[in-house]
Amino acid sequence: MNASRDEKTMALQDQAKKLQSQKDTLLKELDSIEEKFERTNRLYKKYLPVIIDTLATDDTRFSKICRDLSKAFKKEESQGKIEYICEQLKTAMLKEDIHTGAGKKKKGLFSSLLKNESESFIDLYKESYHEVVSHLRGSLDKKFSKRLDDISIQVKNAQNTTDISDIRENVFGLVFNYISDTNEDRAKVNAFVREVVGKILDIESRFASTVEQTDNMVENNDGFESVLGVELAGLKQTSDVAKSLDELKIKVTQRLSAIEKALAEKQAKDSAIKETAKKNRQMLKTGFEKLKQELDKATRYTEELEEKLNRDQLTGAYNRRAYDQRIELEMDRFLRYKTGFSLMVIDADKFKNINDRYGHAIGDRCLQEIIKRSIPLLRKNDMLARYGGEEFVVIMPETDSEGAKNAAEKIRQTIEKIEFLYKKEKVKVTVSIGISQAKTEDTNHRQVFERADIAVYKAKEQGRNRVLVVN
Ligand code: GH3
Ligand code: MG
Ligand code: MG
Repeated sequence: MNASRDEKTMALQDQAKKLQSQKDTLLKELDSIEEKFERTNRLYKKYLPVIIDTLATDDTRFSKICRDLSKAFKKEESQGKIEYICEQLKTAMLKEDIHTGAGKKKKGLFSSLLKNESESFIDLYKESYHEVVSHLRGSLDKKFSKRLDDISIQVKNAQNTTDISDIRENVFGLVFNYISDTNEDRAKVNAFVREVVGKILDIESRFASTVEQTDNMVENNDGFESVLGVELAGLKQTSDVAKSLDELKIKVTQRLSAIEKALAEKQAKDSAIKETAKKNRQMLKTGFEKLKQELDKATRYTEELEEKLNRDQLTGAYNRRAYDQRIELEMDRFLRYKTGFSLMVIDADKFKNINDRYGHAIGDRCLQEIIKRSIPLLRKNDMLARYGGEEFVVIMPETDSEGAKNAAEKIRQTIEKIEFLYKKEKVKVTVSIGISQAKTEDTNHRQVFERADIAVYKAKEQGRNRVLVVN
């Protein structure tokens, strides 16, 4: 999840870089086209009046309008005024039957001027056109060189106004080619702008898909998206309605820099949020680890406490409390599922005498030894507990009184063999064991205990150190 988010961010950053470089390319392109336009403009202003003046040599309406047009160019009149004069020129040309068609050379633009043709007049034209050609050579691309060379030769060899007319046609043709080339470039730039806008829209949709990544980022992205949305809508509109290349250039630059700014802000905010999220995660992790440690400690302590609460200090056997809990469960189980159990009550014989004779400490040791020796003789599921004093009890799940009796007999024999030395005197201890198993008519575990206790009492009566069953 994180990895995929990082990949997306990287891809977006890449895209943003590409966009930046595309924008730079676009601006360079625009600059060079601007320059071309500027050159064309200078060309018109400087040489159109020269060309036009050479046409306006008599008092015809056509010549008069030509002089007006020349003046308008020199005074840098508005486009509207020039267009108006050109319109008048067109009307005058039609009325006076002046044609520009290349196939009608003899009746060309200068055909009506043939009568005025003279050596000096032609030289004047040739001089003017020479200047025009050399200026064009400095202004236009190299690809026009060959055509300019041809025109140069034409200028050099010009004999009459018909030749001059041809030169004029060629110069105009060349300039028109140049202009249409430039327009083509302009169209290319326009397409390029549209392409850039398309890419930005693509980026927007990608951003939209990353928005849902984290709740924290939503707020940040909302701000970014609203900026992006407005700027993109503006960009789209700009490239659709921009009237001039200048306008387009300025607006696209503005929009792109607004998007860049928003992107940079968003990236800064994203990384700040990421950093905070990382810190929070780390803190949370540390917190969890600490909590877990404390929980483990508490659990261990509880278990230890539970163990302490359930164990008899002297012998290490379970205590009365543990017995009470377990016997309840065992009886419940018996009542519910009829899983039988037996109870064994072990009572040390004449223990008072042992204490009296050897002291309480030896009595204690005897009790400890009884437990130590008995436990290995029992099953894992059996529970040996100190019921009180020198009396113990064993809960034996899924064991009938016969099985319990066998186990009890082993315990009795084992304890009987215990011998302590006290001041070179042998200390011996025996136990009496009473057994009973749970019966169907039993409703309480105390009933089972009472029978086992009676069995102990009977064993004592019968001479002690024996096992007795009462069912
Ligand atoms: P019986 O064979 O009839 O059971 O005789 P008994 O002496 O064992 O019975 P009684 O109930 O009269 O005496 C129990 C004695 O066990 C009394 C007490 O001093 C001793 N005793 C009980 N708890 C402890 C103990 O924790 N340590 C020691 N050393 N002696 C204990
Ligand atoms: Mg006793
Ligand atoms: Mg007793």
